[in-house]
Parts: sequence; C-alpha cells; structure tokens
Amino acid sequence: MFMENLKVAEKPALINLSMKNRTKTLFVLCLLFFTFSKVNESVAQNLPKRGYECITEESASSIVGFLSSDILEGRDAGTRGGSVAAEYIVSLFREYGIEPFFDNGYYQHFATVKNGNNWITEADCDISGFIADGCETRSLKNILAVIPGKEKGVVIVGAHYDHLGVDTTLVGDQCFNGADDNASGVSAVLQIAKAIKAAGRQPGRTIIFALWDGEEKGLLGSRYFVKKCTFLSDISAYMNFDMVGRGPAEKPEHLSYMYTAGNPLFGEWMCTDMKKHDFCFTPLYNASENLIGGSDNTPFARKGIPIVWYHTEGHPDYHRVSDSADKIDYPKLADITRATCLCVWRLANVHEY
Ligand SMILES: [Zn+2]
Repeated sequence: MFMENLKVAEKPALINLSMKNRTKTLFVLCLLFFTFSKVNESVAQNLPKRGYECITEESASSIVGFLSSDILEGRDAGTRGGSVAAEYIVSLFREYGIEPFFDNGYYQHFATVKNGNNWITEADCDISGFIADGCETRSLKNILAVIPGKEKGVVIVGAHYDHLGVDTTLVGDQCFNGADDNASGVSAVLQIAKAIKAAGRQPGRTIIFALWDGEEKGLLGSRYFVKKCTFLSDISAYMNFDMVGRGPAEKPEHLSYMYTAGNPLFGEWMCTDMKKHDFCFTPLYNASENLIGGSDNTPFARKGIPIVWYHTEGHPDYHRVSDSADKIDYPKLADITRATCLCVWRLANVHEY
C-alpha cells in the first residue's frame, strides 16, 4: 500500500519532471528555430559589408565618364561607338571576375533591319526577307554575365547601354553623350555586379547582369532576349535601370521607385533600408499592377515577371546632346546603386516574395 502509494506519489512527479523537460526542450528548440531563422533571414537580407562598400561615387563617375565621352560617338546600336562601349563593359566584367552567361562568351548577337521607320528583329518576325531585299541591316549585341546561385530561380538586373549616336545635321555639338540615358544605369548594374562578387557569398538564386542593346530603337535587345529565352518560368524578378543619375530641378533628391503591386515586399524592403541608411535620395513609391512601358522592363512585365525599376525622371537635357557626364549627381547615383544592391541581394536570397 505504501509502495503503491509511493509509486502513485512518484508517478505524477516523474510525469511532471518529464513535462518540465519537454517544455524546456520545446523552449530550447523554439529558441534555436527563431535564432536559426533570424540568422537565415539576416543572411538573406544582409549583403556582406565588403561587397556593399566597394560601390563608390568614383567608380560611377569613371564608368559614366567613359561611356558618355565623345569618342564613343553616342553609342548608337550597331555602330563602332556601340561596339567600343560593349567591349568596355565586358572588360569590366572580366576585371571583376564575373563569368560570361553564354558558353561562347558574354555576347548575344542578333540582327535588326529597318522597315520603314521601324527597326525590327527576329522577336517580331522572320527578317530574312527584309535582309534579302537589301533593307538597312545592323548587328547588335546584348551583354550578359552571371553569378550562379545555389538553388533554382533566376534574377535579372538590366539596363540598356545604347543611345542615340551622332546627328551630323546639327550645328555645333553633334554627339548625344547619353550620360544619364543610360550610362548612369549601366554604372549601377556594373557596380552591383562588382559588389555581389566581392561579397564572396554565393547567392541562393542565380543573378544575371544584362546590358541591353537597341533600347532606343524600340527595346530591341530586351525583347529579343525574352523572345529567345528558354527559362522564362525560372525568372523570379527583373530589375531595370533607365536614367538614374539626375532629378527634377525642383526636387533633385527624387527617385521614382516602381514595382509590381503583387509583390508588396519590394516596397517594404526599400522602406526598411531608408530607415537604416542615410541615403541622399527620396523614393516615391509607385506600386503598379502592370509595369508595361517606358523601358526594358516591358517585355518581362508582359510575361508576368515581377518588376522593380528605378528612374530619376526626365529633364531638359533628355535626348539632347547636352545630356553630359558633368551634370550627373554622383553621390545620388552611388546611393541609388547601394540601395538597389541590397534589393538585388534580397531578390536573390529571400525565400518567397
Ligand atoms: Zn533614351
């Protein structure tokens, strides 16, 4: 009876003890889980400092300065100036140690023909008849570099590198330097590529850095790429830069931050980073159902791919010979590049958005 009582008395104590232990274990497990997810989340959210810190005003200025110098003759698609720009961009990818996307190199070559006032490519129709008929034909090239990820999924970061060339009918300055449009965007893509490579941490998703040709002739490069792309369903997001180096005279710090409304996290990320960093620009958040129009985001948006795009608005030098490197706001361009680099890192690493 006593023993029995003892057993009975002991039993609840044992049960209590094991329940306590279980609660303790559960607590420790929860703690571990939260710590682990926090670490994971911080890996996803935070680009290592050594990467982030190599984005500089000086690099922005040197890239924009070269691309918009008169010797590049306005970087008209399919001309000598355009080719020099392309070779310069490739030389920077090589210097940063970033691999070509294609087996045979960085270039995606394609032809365009002039049909009336329009330039068309294989993205529009079979152009062999136009070529045979002797229509003006040019060879264009997109430039693609890649940092392979650990998992499935692809993020593309793009900007066009072509501009309007030279107009020999003008009196005086004839060269469209295109410093803001879009040497500024090219400098952002290149510096982001450099920063992510220098960070030395493999991203979750693969990141492709794309510099499009023929944007000014009708989004030729990006439309051609999307038409020929065999992995569209793997593309998680497309980020676009087109004119990110200036700002309206009355509000020079302005940045138009456009993103697909179906991905509200894109807006939240920018809000978080604006609180954490002392960036010298003010984003105007613009979430839109359908980001079609304006630039190389269009063909991607048409395929339902989530978009983030940055733009610092038009100005009196837009599509004029006066769009020159000395008018670029380099501290602002560098800060936009830093902020978007953080966004690219999240696009590549955050599990779901
Ligand atoms: Zn333009």
